[in-house]
Amino acid sequence: MPGTFTHQFDSSFFKGNVAVNTGLFINGQWTDSVSKETIDIFNPVDGTVITKVAAANAEDVDIAVKAAKQAFKTSWGLKVPGHQRGRLLYKLADLVEKHQDAIAAVEALDAGKHFIHAKTQDIQDGIKNLRYYAGWADKNQGKTLETSEAKLAYTRHEPIGVVGLIVPWNFPFMIAIWKVAPALATGNAVVLKPSEVTPLSALLLAALVKEAGFPDGVFSVVPGYGAVAGQALAEHALVGKVSFTGSTFVGRKVMETAAKTNLKRVTLELGGKSPTIVFEDADLEQAVKWIVYGIFHHSGQMCAATSRIFVHEAVYDKFLELFTAAAQAVRQGDGFNEDADEGPLVSKAQLDRVLAYIETGKQEGARVVTGGARAGRAGYFVQPTIFADVRPDMRIVREEIFGPVGVVAKFSTEEEVLELANDTQYGLSSYAFTRDVSRAVRVANALEAGCAFINSSALLEPQVPFGGFKQSGHGKEMGEYALEAFTQVKAVHINVGIKL
Ligand code: NAD
Repeated sequence: MPGTFTHQFDSSFFKGNVAVNTGLFINGQWTDSVSKETIDIFNPVDGTVITKVAAANAEDVDIAVKAAKQAFKTSWGLKVPGHQRGRLLYKLADLVEKHQDAIAAVEALDAGKHFIHAKTQDIQDGIKNLRYYAGWADKNQGKTLETSEAKLAYTRHEPIGVVGLIVPWNFPFMIAIWKVAPALATGNAVVLKPSEVTPLSALLLAALVKEAGFPDGVFSVVPGYGAVAGQALAEHALVGKVSFTGSTFVGRKVMETAAKTNLKRVTLELGGKSPTIVFEDADLEQAVKWIVYGIFHHSGQMCAATSRIFVHEAVYDKFLELFTAAAQAVRQGDGFNEDADEGPLVSKAQLDRVLAYIETGKQEGARVVTGGARAGRAGYFVQPTIFADVRPDMRIVREEIFGPVGVVAKFSTEEEVLELANDTQYGLSSYAFTRDVSRAVRVANALEAGCAFINSSALLEPQVPFGGFKQSGHGKEMGEYALEAFTQVKAVHINVGIKL
């Protein structure tokens, strides 16, 4: 029998017991993995093991996918009218809202997030997305197409069938919802594979999906290692689509696997190294605040981080002075404590990776303005770090670090900075700070990225699509555009008068 992990939270933010089922959730039931293997789940604040969860392998994934296929055929898809699918999603949103403290607490514990950020940002964003797509469930219509009086032609927006959703560890709940909500709204059956590092909030979600009353098999969760459970999902012949969020390296593998198996559809939300331009006319204090949020929030573990910063020469020194002071003011610690602003990195592997990049930056000759080392002895903390006077050829400028490390370079002209900004394999997001509206529009048009934010860092909304250009991926999450990622268009031709 699969176990339950119970944790007693005793923080001024939240007090209470939360129980999480640690099995696999397949076909509406909790189950052990076939192999009985488990994964250790760590608390990033002190490196201790908090629990173990079942680890799915290919056999478990096969069982989940077959159950999903059966559910799709018998009790889901377009058989269930859109307004009924929508009603279930509204109910799920209400349940998430009701249990928001518990979900936020588990998310904070598992991913090293600050409880308040998890509650007021990630979980609220999840609720908004569930309600947004609940509203779409009965509005994703095809068209009647004018051809001739002898023919009736129309399109249907049909669900794909079974979709595999593979998500990373940085926003485990929120990113899962970005996929789950449009996938279910459009009538697909879902097999969700959370990251092996942070599976707990997906397991809580499974319990709420069951309580909401979705038919068995329509939603399954298979925690497991990427190379095993993720790979099995990407390979499976009955999976019609994989929606993947994670690194560019693994995204490439998922696409390759899809190409070698059943040519399943793939959408990819991958890494970034987003250019962040501060022009000489920017509101410098606001720019610094947004950039600090963009690179030090969640210890920089954000795909759309404001990680590659270009500052006009006229304000370069002043910017660095303010940016440094703000970085030094960030209080790191346990996200359940009132004296902490930000938590640790998620894992030992991530800690080692970020520290290795910091060493690389030093060896490449970038100037460390502040930080540049591990913080504390226990837990996976790295000091908020700023490298200045960086060159475009440095690895710390070209590669995604995914930690609290901002790199800053000086520029002279708009033309020059746009060349520098677009000189990257990535194209997820981009940022510019200026008071000149003509320049804002010009620069937003010229930046080669899926998002351009003017005078803020990434503030996402359920209505607005998010997704990358270039090697940051393809396909969109959120907004009406995400419906396309989970549907296929059928053209129906009805001959009412053409004779041969
Ligand atoms: P990752 O690529 O290592 O893992 C992502 C997911 O893929 C995990 O669930 C993992 O288990 C699974 N996986 C690993 N190997 C697999 C395989 N062979 N086949 C199928 N699945 C496999 O990424 P991560 O370290 O969890 O997350 C960090 C990365 O995610 C960063 O590069 C970040 O930029 C990116 N990210 C992108 C977005 C976005 O929206 N563009 C959002 C968040 C994170």
